[in-house]
Amino acid sequence: MTCVWDILASGVSAHARHFAEVYLPPPLLMGRCHLLWVTWVDLGGLPPPPPRNLRPYLESTRSKSTGASGVERLLLESGSPRLAAHPLSLSPPPPLPPAQSAREQERGREGARYPACSGRRVRTKMAAPLEEYEKEAGCVPILHPEEIKPQAHYTHGYSESLGRKSHIDDYSTWDIVKATQYGIYERCRELVEAGYDVRQPDKENVTLLHWAAINNRLDLVKFYISKGAIVDQLGGDLNSTPLHWATRQGHLSMVVQLMKYGADPSLIDGEGCSCIHLAAQFGHTSIVAYLIAKGQDVDMMDQNGMTPLMWAAYRTHSVDPTRLLLTFNVSVNLGDKYHKNTALHWAVLAGNTTVISLLLEAGANVDAQNIKGESPLDLAKQRKNVWMINNLQEARQAKGYDNPSFLRKLRADKEFRQKVMLGTPFLVIWLVGFIADLDIDSWLIKGLMYGGVWAMVQFLSKSFFDHSMHSALPLGIYLATKFWMYVTWFFWFWNDLNFVFIHLPFLANSVALFYNFGKSWKSDPGIIKATEEQKKKTIVELAETGSLDLSIFCSTCLIRKPVRSKHCGVCNRCIAKFDHHCPWVGNCVGAGNHRYFMGYLFFLLFMICWMIYGCISYWGIHCHTTYTADGFWTYITQIATCSPWMFWMFLNSVFHFMWVAVLLMCQMYQISCLGITTNERMNARRYKHFKVTTTSIESPFNHGCIRNIIDFFEFRCCGLFRPVIVDWTRQYTIEYDQTTGSGYQLV
Ligand SMILES: [Zn+2]
Ligand SMILES: [Zn+2]
Repeated sequence: MTCVWDILASGVSAHARHFAEVYLPPPLLMGRCHLLWVTWVDLGGLPPPPPRNLRPYLESTRSKSTGASGVERLLLESGSPRLAAHPLSLSPPPPLPPAQSAREQERGREGARYPACSGRRVRTKMAAPLEEYEKEAGCVPILHPEEIKPQAHYTHGYSESLGRKSHIDDYSTWDIVKATQYGIYERCRELVEAGYDVRQPDKENVTLLHWAAINNRLDLVKFYISKGAIVDQLGGDLNSTPLHWATRQGHLSMVVQLMKYGADPSLIDGEGCSCIHLAAQFGHTSIVAYLIAKGQDVDMMDQNGMTPLMWAAYRTHSVDPTRLLLTFNVSVNLGDKYHKNTALHWAVLAGNTTVISLLLEAGANVDAQNIKGESPLDLAKQRKNVWMINNLQEARQAKGYDNPSFLRKLRADKEFRQKVMLGTPFLVIWLVGFIADLDIDSWLIKGLMYGGVWAMVQFLSKSFFDHSMHSALPLGIYLATKFWMYVTWFFWFWNDLNFVFIHLPFLANSVALFYNFGKSWKSDPGIIKATEEQKKKTIVELAETGSLDLSIFCSTCLIRKPVRSKHCGVCNRCIAKFDHHCPWVGNCVGAGNHRYFMGYLFFLLFMICWMIYGCISYWGIHCHTTYTADGFWTYITQIATCSPWMFWMFLNSVFHFMWVAVLLMCQMYQISCLGITTNERMNARRYKHFKVTTTSIESPFNHGCIRNIIDFFEFRCCGLFRPVIVDWTRQYTIEYDQTTGSGYQLV
């Protein structure tokens, strides 16, 4: 149970309490109890809390320069509407290529040890703040944006402030380079029409197309190309193309546009990198995705012999680019050309803990040696990083290296750990009842024995319980309780109870329960699958329509998310009509198994009621006490001493009765009255199609109580009803064909 309390202590309790206040009756609001947690998990689809040892590197996924998380950065890159709310959108100056000195400085600091491609952002030589630019231009911002022709695409907050210039003549003296940098379309057209050659580079050997690309001036790029600009012109200190510049800066829409005009992403810049390497080292996940989808090889080496994965491991602390590359099946164990370092070496060199975990999960070779004969573990030892050393050593042990001690070997075996987690509740539930049932009068001895059980649980949980498998524990508790309840039923109750009226319905109920449980546990909850080709097609389609946006695209599964679907963080997959991840059945609950899950809850509740009935009947027959004759307390103490095992089973039944009843009521309310899933209820504000007020959620999927039930359970009643059947794995909009069903009208 330690792990449950750890989770509560780790701050989830605040959410749990908030949720509990909304949903649970006051008697259950008793603080940190297991019931609350698991019920809450079940009701709310817990975003799995980060285990303690993962927290440091979860933090590290925040970008150091911007403070944006991986998700926020992807949103920024995709130019989502949320951009305006982000501090980055306020950064004023249009970026310009790095000054020579800055580059040399950077290289000097890096030393000769690493390849020349430096992962620095393209910095702003002219990084003049807006005020300075305004001073120079001799104008002050006022609120008449209409005086300047609005640009076709605003993706910089900067452009917006620029639009608020009062004097149209302010930029009439600007040269074409400056006008391009700031996206003054009219001025640029004027100069080109007056005879300026768009192919002519400026004094820094940079063409207008470069300036337009790095500043994301889509309309200017279109204009210059129509006037004869060469799309793959090399220029600047790094001898790179406009596409390189746009990639470095993370302008996906510009990359898309330039490639439409025939720009070649495989060209190499002066540092030996092609576009995919730049995108990987700057952490522009959506551009990496787009380039791969457009046919760039995931394992392509640049002139330094580095693959995109090595760059992502070395330069990017966010999980996104690495995870994306792994989804595209990169070769994890390739070594680079000069150092023979694998991606894992590079991740260790950069102290990139997030990526190290991902690579180890993906089966990176922990014993790969670089040109100096060093393994990643050797490098970690040189750096004296305890986290890395431990994790790499664990990975080695998991592969059976290092001849670990017997206990360590067992500990490293993931399957064994899972078995221990599932098996412990069987043993503990039996031991608790067995010790209580022992014919020993001394409570001291019994107390010592319970102390032994407690110590054993502590030992097992510390040695073998795995936080990443925390969903196995509730499943184990559920299976163990059910197992011992059946044993009790068949060995204690069989002779006491009537076969036809009690045993037969109990057995029939059990069959239904096992069937529904099996279906909920093992069947496909509605996983959204896609082949690699489909994934690439989706990325290209979304990128080219400007909608590679996290609200409709899953950056882990690389699929377009159907409406009502959600990515399950526990199982790491997208589920259609996701309800929640249920630890009691160890599976997600979604379009594929939600009905079985309801059946499971329903029959489980009945089974528990029978169990409670069985216990009460047993006491009536075997214990010489009655509630009416002896009063409440005597009755309770009498039955507890008469058969402690039975009393223990009774307590278990009551515990399970509570969570099952609460869950069943909640689910039925959501299905019939609200017409929404648990996930939608919890996160309604995230979805545009729900109207959320303080007291209610208006759902487009709510068609009235009776029809909701008919549609959900697909009741047909021999053709009496026609439910609306929707394939939620392919439904991308909230409009679906409702004419197929007539709800509860008679056909
Ligand atoms: Zn997903
Ligand atoms: Zn799941």
